[in-house]
Amino acid sequence: MPTITYQGKTYECNNEERLLYQLNQQGANLASGCQGGHCHVCMIKVIKGEVPDQPQSDVKAEMKEKGYFLPCLCKPESDFEIAPPERRDSFISANITGLDFINPGIIRLRTNLPTNFDYQAGQFINLVRAKDGLARSYSLASLPSDKQLEFHIRLFANGKMSGWIANDLQCGDEILMSEAKGKCCYQKAYADRPLLLAGTGTGLAPLYGILRDALTSAHQSKITLLQGGRNSDELYYTEELRQLAHQYENFSYMPCVLDGDAPEGGFSGPIDELIPQQLAADSNWAAYLCGDSSVVGLMRRSCFTHAVEADDIHCDAFV
Ligand SMILES: Cc1cc2nc3c(=O)[nH]c(=O)nc-3n(C[C@H](O)[C@H](O)[C@H](O)COP(=O)(O)OP(=O)(O)OC[C@H]3O[C@@H](n4cnc5c(N)ncnc54)[C@H](O)[C@@H]3O)c2cc1C
Repeated sequence: MPTITYQGKTYECNNEERLLYQLNQQGANLASGCQGGHCHVCMIKVIKGEVPDQPQSDVKAEMKEKGYFLPCLCKPESDFEIAPPERRDSFISANITGLDFINPGIIRLRTNLPTNFDYQAGQFINLVRAKDGLARSYSLASLPSDKQLEFHIRLFANGKMSGWIANDLQCGDEILMSEAKGKCCYQKAYADRPLLLAGTGTGLAPLYGILRDALTSAHQSKITLLQGGRNSDELYYTEELRQLAHQYENFSYMPCVLDGDAPEGGFSGPIDELIPQQLAADSNWAAYLCGDSSVVGLMRRSCFTHAVEADDIHCDAFV
């Protein structure tokens, strides 16, 4: 059995299960995100010995050279020693420029646009607390042409990151961030195909970026946005979205609620069950589905069973 050393302690691990899972089962308390190699929240560094190739396959060349790998994808084959990431290797520094509640459960956080920070609307980054490396993934709601980065953060009861952002962070404070990741972005190849954008809660964040990207890229066909919430109080940016629908003839905004009366121009009912009637109005759709991972799974199934090709369904699931 391989022995893994971390911060002076040794852990006996097998090569059947993922290293991240095994270390955390034994109390190592490593940062953990999507657990599928997607978000890179758990990225860590090997300082002695060798890790297999697979957990480094999606790590940038210069980071790989420094020994970084993804323990969520690693099945250890030999003994090695690991260390926490060095923040100056991995992260970009930014300052908070805006912090307010969009509604009682959602914080809007804005930062300056760091120099040479490249991204596409709809991507996500990892926000990192500088003092201890606490990290979580958040989707970008802004466009690269905006002067600031914007994030929509759901406040969880006892949530470590969202609680810190709500209670301790202030304008002017420093926050660290990873480079932008993810492929849930507008594609110009879709310019003359109908687009369905659907999401619940802060799933609106990436959709808001993707929507504005499509509109400013002069998308030719129609765009339908279904925004879901448990009730009307959970919906946000409704006025901004109504205004966009007024401004762009090819854009329709449909707010949906699970409980209570349908909001103006929208529906009442589970969002995944409202998708088929929208899809029935046209053909050759591409879909962008964002937010809570279980709802994204239901919406994905709804699109797939109503003739949207799997390659044309793009998801940003908040695990
Ligand atoms: C690609 C991606 C993009 C994302 N984009 C966004 C976004 O734009 N906006 C957004 O709001 N979120 C987004 N998320 C989710 C986000 O990363 C966080 O997971 C979320 O904000 C919770 O973080 P937290 O630290 O506040 O809560 P956490 O501390 O992680 O806790 C979350 C909840 O779980 C409970 N909990 C924690 N540990 C346990 C335990 N051991 N047993 C039982 N319950 C427990 C807590 O009490 C809390 O209610 C995204 C996730 C991914 C993977």
